[in-house]
Amino acid sequence: MDNIDTAKGISDLVPMQDLFNEWHAKNTSQKVRNVFKSRGMSGAPLTTNPPFGYLKDPESKNGWIIDEAAAKTVRQIFAWCVDGLGPTQIAKRLKTAKVPTPTEHWSNIGRNCSKPPAIPYNWCSATVADILSKQEYCGDTVNFRSTTKSFKNKKKIERPPEEWQIFKDTHPAIIDRETFALVQELRKHRRRPTKSGIVSPFSGLLYCADCGEKLYYSVTNNYKREQAYFFCSSYRKNSEVCSAHYIRERVVEQIVLESMQRILLNVQVFEKEFARKQMDCYTEDKKKQLAAKRRELSKAKKRIAEIDALIQKIYEDNASGKLSDERYATLSLSYEEEQKTLKSAVPEMQAYLETETDKTESLQKFVQKVKQITELQALTPELIHEFVDRIVVYAPRYLDGKRVQLLDIYYSGVGILHELTPEEMEEAFQQHLTERNKEKTA
Ligand SMILES: [Zn+2]
Repeated sequence: MDNIDTAKGISDLVPMQDLFNEWHAKNTSQKVRNVFKSRGMSGAPLTTNPPFGYLKDPESKNGWIIDEAAAKTVRQIFAWCVDGLGPTQIAKRLKTAKVPTPTEHWSNIGRNCSKPPAIPYNWCSATVADILSKQEYCGDTVNFRSTTKSFKNKKKIERPPEEWQIFKDTHPAIIDRETFALVQELRKHRRRPTKSGIVSPFSGLLYCADCGEKLYYSVTNNYKREQAYFFCSSYRKNSEVCSAHYIRERVVEQIVLESMQRILLNVQVFEKEFARKQMDCYTEDKKKQLAAKRRELSKAKKRIAEIDALIQKIYEDNASGKLSDERYATLSLSYEEEQKTLKSAVPEMQAYLETETDKTESLQKFVQKVKQITELQALTPELIHEFVDRIVVYAPRYLDGKRVQLLDIYYSGVGILHELTPEEMEEAFQQHLTERNKEKTA
């Protein structure tokens, strides 16, 4: 410090101070970064403000709770995307529907944020695209998505997804994983379904297992059958009523084809055994239920005839003066009402009994139809419509990380068919051999 007066010394010292400041800042920054890093690695969300749709949980330091009003908008955005709209179209719809933008919403609920924009409801497609890409909506925390270059340069740098740290189910989900995965897929291909009027051979046959509505068919602009898919039409109308139940047309086709091939094999090789097994599946419960329905029907028919006689009788009694006009009017009215109710119930009961009791007969018809097919390599629309009545699609489940989706295929006239297990096939095959040998020796 003695030499501080020297001209050279002073000029040297200033950059030294700068250097020290920089070192100090860097050091602190590194400390902050380390704390930040360990926080991030522990699964605590690093964002100061939760994304649109969530609020900080007042009862837990790192927790998020659902902001229902905003979550509704988020769900709507995802549903529109599933329906084939792109971010620009979604932004337009939100604007038309006068839905508050995140900034407007936050300013409405008093959360600190930038000043609301001059034009209200002015959604931009980038905001929509950003919402559609946020895995946080599945309930996960995603940390280290971006970083800054250095403590000096605060410019955000996106990190590759492999470097992200994802913690599952850290907060309640707004979007189910299924829908989120579908949306990521749709966004990747940037495909938009057209109202091209293209119909799938499965159109109108697919139903949602949860709400009972038909599934909606969606085709891309350039019409790639590989990408065509179905999803629940209730979900399409209102994303809060049902889930997407998304299934590719190709998958449906493959499942139906394989099921039909197995049935074909069963029928052609083990015809009798196949029919017997189908009848076995006709449970005792069903038989009791049918008997009850049959009794109900005959009772109704008997009563209808009885009422006819009663009406005839009161008419005569009234004519002969045994029954007052007033009494006659009340009685005939009540008889007619009763008869009307019974008569309207009869066709339904009959139809039910016809379709159900004739299982043997319809099964025979079905077997005959199947026997006419000599080869089944691919499904044609004709085949589908001849054999398939309806297909019920269940919501997917994840078993060991694999997506499993169940379908119930209702075959025309016979309903769900019991497909022989490998053991049953073996048993049937042995029986088949024995019978053939008997025929030979006879
Ligand atoms: Zn549904």
